[in-house]
Amino acid sequence: MYARLTSGITGVAKALAGVDAASPEIEGLRLSKCEPCEHNQPGVLGRYCHLCGCYIDLKVKVASEQCPDTPPRWKAVPGVKTGGCSACGGKK
Ligand code: SF4
Repeated sequence: MYARLTSGITGVAKALAGVDAASPEIEGLRLSKCEPCEHNQPGVLGRYCHLCGCYIDLKVKVASEQCPDTPPRWKAVPGVKTGGCSACGGKK
């Protein structure tokens, strides 16, 4: 629980700081997968992924992020070291 929270905060900080940023094209491609997804849920601070708890609009901005679904609907940018999902820490 604590590791997940810490990892999630790291992901949010990266997205807000523009660190490890995905290109606008990649961001748009990822959003096109998340928008119709059944795991895309409305939340108090914005839409979030019901599988990992990440805020989608922030998650798609980080190059090393990856969809937590099995199989992933979108992956980390090729060549970028991925830590899996920043919220769950999953190594998918
Ligand atoms: S990250 Fe994956 S599982 Fe989550 S909402 Fe987006 S496409 Fe769906």
